Amino acid sequence: MSLRVKRCSFCGSEIPRGVGIMYVKNDGTVLYFCSSKCRKNMLILKRKPYRVKWVIKKAKSTKSK
Ligand SMILES: [Zn+2]
Repeated sequence: MSLRVKRCSFCGSEIPRGVGIMYVKNDGTVLYFCSSKCRKNMLILKRKPYRVKWVIKKAKSTKSK
């Protein structure tokens, strides 16, 4: 884990320092979100990252046309 660069817990993109949201759940889990969009999707809409089109997390997986 890098302390300098956080990754968005939802979309996986890097979050520069001073940007984004750190969210601590009641059980102590820390989540980082690059934007309120990601926060809402995770916490309110309860979407799964791999089911959301704009998530880039899985970019390295198999490429099929
Ligand atoms: Zn994000």
